[in-house]
Amino acid sequence: MAMTKENILIINCGSSSLKFAVINPSSGEEFINGIAERLGEAEAFIRWKFQGNKESETLNGGAHDAAVEALLHMLEAKGLKEGIAAVGHRVVHGGETFKESCIVTKEAMQAIEDCTHLAPLHNPANLVGIKAAQKHFPGLPMTVVFDTSFHQSMPDKAFTYAVPYKFYRENGLRKYGFHGTSYRFVSRAACEMLDLDISNSKILIAHLGNGASCAAVLNGESMDTTMGLTPLEGLVMGTRCGNIDANVFSFLNKEYGYSIEEITDILNKKSGLLGISELSNDCRVIEEAYMEGNKQATLAMDVFCYVLAKQLAGMAVATGGVDALAFTGGIGENSDIIRGKVVEALAFLGFELDKQRNLDCRFGNEGVISSDTSRATALVVSTNEELMIAKDTAALIS
Ligand code: ADP
Repeated sequence: MAMTKENILIINCGSSSLKFAVINPSSGEEFINGIAERLGEAEAFIRWKFQGNKESETLNGGAHDAAVEALLHMLEAKGLKEGIAAVGHRVVHGGETFKESCIVTKEAMQAIEDCTHLAPLHNPANLVGIKAAQKHFPGLPMTVVFDTSFHQSMPDKAFTYAVPYKFYRENGLRKYGFHGTSYRFVSRAACEMLDLDISNSKILIAHLGNGASCAAVLNGESMDTTMGLTPLEGLVMGTRCGNIDANVFSFLNKEYGYSIEEITDILNKKSGLLGISELSNDCRVIEEAYMEGNKQATLAMDVFCYVLAKQLAGMAVATGGVDALAFTGGIGENSDIIRGKVVEALAFLGFELDKQRNLDCRFGNEGVISSDTSRATALVVSTNEELMIAKDTAALIS
């Protein structure tokens, strides 16, 4: 265990949960990780994995403050507290203010607050986490790393919606994009794995988890991405519909009498793989049913892969060609079926799948999945947003 004071505590605070990890930013070694859940409820608890052992503690109905206090005491008890040099916080929305990660100051806190109308569920929770950390870890420098900031390099033709311009001017209505920390990590990792010069590279990335998006990264910078003002836009996801005719709102209102809130809930939480399959939002369940010939699971897989391939082909317009296509996230790192279908649909861009390599890249194995004669390279990269946050934090405090 590194006893020098250079490790970073990563905090990712949601409305009722708080994920954490302690990571060495140079070696990438993770000393502990865990999550506090059901915060504010009687059943609130915190659990973690340390040296291979899983442990947990009740929080006696406590919320975020209690979780951070319990985290502090646990880190002290494990001898990890003294090795922590700074705390890096994940923040969802940085609007147009934050083009990169930064040190937490009064002004930064205010600016995150000012972005709340863009992420009304997430930013307030992120701020609660920062304040709790400031209280229980006084004296440690804090940083914020945003999901949106990597996409601030998108040109205005990529982020502008064709609606009355005053909505952008007055209220910031535009495409922002998310998963930016993952895209930054994966684009760099892919270039290292393929021995490509990042400043002269055309990389497409599909980040496929419960939320899914893809992005066009040209010379290390985001040029376009599929998520928009919110994470609802773009690809078919576990429970989100992705791209859809906006008139669905008035249609569902007229046919079923649903309110705006109800329709928003349907499109975000009851659609996607779950909506089509009527089985599950979990890709593993869908794949199993697909293998057994279940019709709706097959349709869900087909729509998921078709939309993904179509969007990736569109991303190739933003990069003006493709050196590499990287798959990441729980689905991207594990589903050889989805990767195979997508790479085969993109054969016209120069991709040729190597079936055995594709099968081999699962459960943590990274690597190339296209053949040696493929004109563009398809590969699997394990994302590591926590390490990216730790690296940003270490760079900012040094
Ligand atoms: P999050 O977006 O919450 O971080 P993850 O990146 O962990 O999510 O991805 C979760 C998704 O990955 C789920 O749909 C899950 O079914 C899928 N997944 C995990 N393992 C596999 C696997 N072996 N095969 C197919 N899908 C998988």
